[in-house]
Amino acid sequence: MLFVAVGTGIGGAITLGNRLWRGHTGVAGEIGNVTIDRHGSTCWCGRKGCLNTSASGAAIESQLEPGVPLSQQVQRGHPLLDLAIDQAAVALGIGIANALNLLNPALVVLGGGVAELGQAWLDKVAATARSEAFPEAGQCGFELARAGYEAGSVGAALLAMEQLKRSSLTQLSYR
Ligand SMILES: [Zn+2]
Repeated sequence: MLFVAVGTGIGGAITLGNRLWRGHTGVAGEIGNVTIDRHGSTCWCGRKGCLNTSASGAAIESQLEPGVPLSQQVQRGHPLLDLAIDQAAVALGIGIANALNLLNPALVVLGGGVAELGQAWLDKVAATARSEAFPEAGQCGFELARAGYEAGSVGAALLAMEQLKRSSLTQLSYR
């Protein structure tokens, strides 16, 4: 499974065989810093054209009223709102398509504040990802995170609990 948290920035997590895959140095799943346009704008990481710069909440906000949270801009309405959301969803779909070709997951789950945009946003991301990925890689499910906005923090808490349980079991086995 691939989880993508889309908020101010974009984060991700990969599970292989129901276990979190951290990678060699612990940064696996950094999909927000995958380059999709080498000539794009500068990302917080210092490189250009990362997925963060075109698909995140901050990227959408910057096309409308920079510095005003997306949720407020959605409430207020803006003539370019639908276009900005649509362009960001397409960019996210392209970034996810690259991940689909690389990982071929069964399921992609989208969470974070931007995922609160709901089903129409999810459908646009999924349609783009499926059309940009290998046909076989595009045969995966797309869902909104059940824990919604809090999915990332719920996952972090569950991970800490799991590790605590594992380390106490290890200590017991030494006795
Ligand atoms: Zn970056």
